[in-house]
Order: sequence, then structure tokens, then C-alpha cells
Amino acid sequence: MTARILDGKIIRDQIFAELKDEVRLLTAARVRPGLAAVLVGENPASQLYVKSKIAACEEIGLSSALLTPPATATTLEMLGVIEDLNRDNDVDGILVQLPLPPQVDTKRILEAVDPAKDVDGFHPVNLGRLVSGRPGLVACTPAGCMEILRRNNIPIEGANAVVLGRSDIVGKPMALLLMHANATVTICHSKTRDLPDVVRRADIIVAAMGKAGYVEASWVKSGATVIDVGTNRVTDLMEAERLFQNFPDRLAKFRAKGSALVGDVHPDAIHTAGALTPVPGGVGPMTITMLMSNTVKAARLRRASPKFSATQSTAGAR
Ligand code: NAP
Repeated sequence: MTARILDGKIIRDQIFAELKDEVRLLTAARVRPGLAAVLVGENPASQLYVKSKIAACEEIGLSSALLTPPATATTLEMLGVIEDLNRDNDVDGILVQLPLPPQVDTKRILEAVDPAKDVDGFHPVNLGRLVSGRPGLVACTPAGCMEILRRNNIPIEGANAVVLGRSDIVGKPMALLLMHANATVTICHSKTRDLPDVVRRADIIVAAMGKAGYVEASWVKSGATVIDVGTNRVTDLMEAERLFQNFPDRLAKFRAKGSALVGDVHPDAIHTAGALTPVPGGVGPMTITMLMSNTVKAARLRRASPKFSATQSTAGAR
């Protein structure tokens, strides 16, 4: 058996097409959605992430602004930046690129963002709304995983779902979203006993641990759906040989490049799962997609007339 590949790039393209239509309608109604990105200092990885987020804004027609406080910025200065963005009516989404420099109180900054503009879905108010099943802005990666499941018609209601990882940004919101979609959810973490047995009972596995190829193929029930959130860069040859033993092309690429991106689930699971997200190209493209979706949703909820909201039912409406 070879699993059906749940391709995140295809879903990204579908959602981008829907968002472009919605942005056109909103802009015609004089509500052009806008995202403001705050990038502190000069961390090259953060610069790259923000660049691709701004490029996505351009692609779907959102306005974007980039604020670049220096690496020496204090918590008070950062609070000032956030306050200005909260007051700016043209800004619908505020993205604070993490990590912030050590002298800045990250929690205070994230909690200062107006929950209506919290397109990362990290604010406790939005987390509280998610817990109680009320509409709000949901963290992008888990929201993207739900889109992958729904748009591939994977049955969720009544399914046994096992979420590996309990972080605030992936595991916890993921478990809540699955529970609200009527799955029976088990959350696992580093102290979980008999992990292979727990995983073997799952119809849906969401792996978000940050451990390359940790979930073995034999733990995956035949036909189960695997959503692999893990994004691990492997640079060790022995590790690559363990992971790519049955994938000579991937091993050859690793040898040529010296590194490879691997999920938390062993690649051999392609022969036990019924459907699975590849790494790269599965969950990865969905995070920026849902950031765009949240920004459009924030604009619609905050600025568009109720009549407009009632007529829209895109990905962003969920
Ligand atoms: P995190 O904050 O480090 O959380 C990891 C979670 O995994 C923790 O809850 C931890 O348990 C659990 N865990 C660690 N080892 C385990 C084990 N042996 N058995 C069971 N559970 C274990 O990580 P995160 O931010 O949620 O990210 C998880 C992964 O997703 C990372 O690889 C990250 O790069 C990736 N990610 C990808 C995207 C994307 O766009 N594709 C977005 C976000 C994150 P404890 O709570 O007990 O420590």
C-alpha cells in the first residue's frame, strides 16, 4: 500500500484563489485588508520568513507594511510600536516575528496586540475563544492542518485522533480544533507512557514534536491519516541513512546537499498510512496560507458591513 499524498501546495493554491476573490470584493467596498509585520533586529531566518509573508500579501492583493525596530529595542519601545499599529485602522493584522531579542518581554508584547488584529492567533483572548468554541482568530499551523483534512474529505467526526505535542502554538490548538470537529482526541507529550500503543489506535495522527522520524511506520495503523507538522533539518549521515534506507533518491539528494528536511514521522509510514502530508510540501505551505486567510478574516470582521460578512464563506470564515 502507498499512502495518498496530502499536498499542501495544492490546498494553498485553492485558498489563495478564494482569498484573491474576497480581497477584490473587500477592496471594491473600500476595505483593502492590510498586514503589518514587525521584524526586530537582523536575524537572517526571521528576515526570510517575513519576506515570504510579504510576498504572499502581494500575491493575493493585501497591503503590507514592514516595521524594523533595531535589535536594541526595549519592551517599552516595542509596546509603543504595537500601540500605534492597534490604532491604525488600515492595519487588520499584526504579525510580530519571533524570536524577539532577549531584553524584550515577548509575552507582554504578544498580549498587547489587539485580539481583533492577532492574525497569529497567539493572544490569550483568541485562545480562550477557541477553548469555548467561539469564533476568533486561530493559530495558523493547526488551522492549516484542519484545512488539509477537510479539503481532502478525511472523516473527522467520531475518529480517534492522536496529537503528539502540546505546545501553545500547535499541539493544544490542534487538539481543540479536532475536538470541536467531533473527533475523540488524545494528546501525547514527552511523559506519555506506551506511546506506540496510543498511536496505533489513531485514525488521525498529528505529529508536532520536533523529532526527526520519531514515529515509526509500525506505529501507524493501516490506512490511518498522518498529518506531519514536524520540520526537522537532518545533517547527520547515519541519521539520514536510518530515515532514507528505502528512499535511495532522497539519500542521494542528502549526500549531495549535506542536509534534508524530515518530518516527525518516519518516511517508511508511506507504506502503512492511508494518507499523509509530505515533508516538505505538506503542512509547511499552510502556515503562511492561514496567515493570509486570518488577515482577510480580521478585515472582514472588523471593517466590512455585516451584509458583506454574511455573503462570504471562504476558508477564512471558519
Ligand atoms: P515544541 O514547543 O518544542 O513542542 C514539542 C512538543 O512535543 C512538546 O509538547 C513535547 O512534550 C512533545 N514531545 C517532545 N518529545 C516527545 C516524545 N518523545 N514523545 C511525545 N511527545 C514529545 O514544538 P512546536 O513549536 O509545537 O513544534 C513542533 C514541530 O512542528 C517542530 O518540528 C516545528 O519545527 C514544527 N512546526 C512546523 C510548522 C510548519 O509550518 N510546518 C509550524 C510550527 C511548528 P512536553 O510538553 O512534555 O515537553
